[in-house]
Amino acid sequence: MADIKHDGSAGQARYTGQCLCGSVRYDSGPPIMMGRCYCVDCRRVTGSGYAPVIAVLEADLTITGEIRLIEIRSAQGLKTWRGFCPQCGSPMVGHLQKNPGVTALYAGTLDDPELFRPGINLWLERAPSWVEIDRSVPGFDRQPDDAAPVYDTVRDAVDPTLPTTVAKLMAG
Ligand SMILES: [Zn+2]
Ligand SMILES: [Zn+2]
Repeated sequence: MADIKHDGSAGQARYTGQCLCGSVRYDSGPPIMMGRCYCVDCRRVTGSGYAPVIAVLEADLTITGEIRLIEIRSAQGLKTWRGFCPQCGSPMVGHLQKNPGVTALYAGTLDDPELFRPGINLWLERAPSWVEIDRSVPGFDRQPDDAAPVYDTVRDAVDPTLPTTVAKLMAG
């Protein structure tokens, strides 16, 4: 964690975190996307104005402890899943049907919250008026249908070796 550099290179940093009570822990490789999501589901699941989201590859993610998954239909009718610690209720993971192989973690659960460097804003059309928006990063009114441009905005800064992995993932 300490080897994160502010020039944007994440090196071999591990992204570790846990729920409020510590029953659930995770350990992940570098994210393929970091951003804020202002969609209705993210607002509700966090009880806040947006969710600080870290998208990681499931192939490089280990979760220990039990997760309770809830299936929710998104506004667009797609299946999504949100996972919680059954002991303390902390929101831990999110999955989108259209992004297989990718898991979203919530930055607030990181052991080192400074690892979160949001590079994109999603679903701005749903942002409550009382939330301050960072306009210095690319923003989308919704979530682009093709997720690739979203990942493009951050992945090169996080880990230059990721584009191949992501391209493969998106193709599959
Ligand atoms: Zn817990
Ligand atoms: Zn969202």
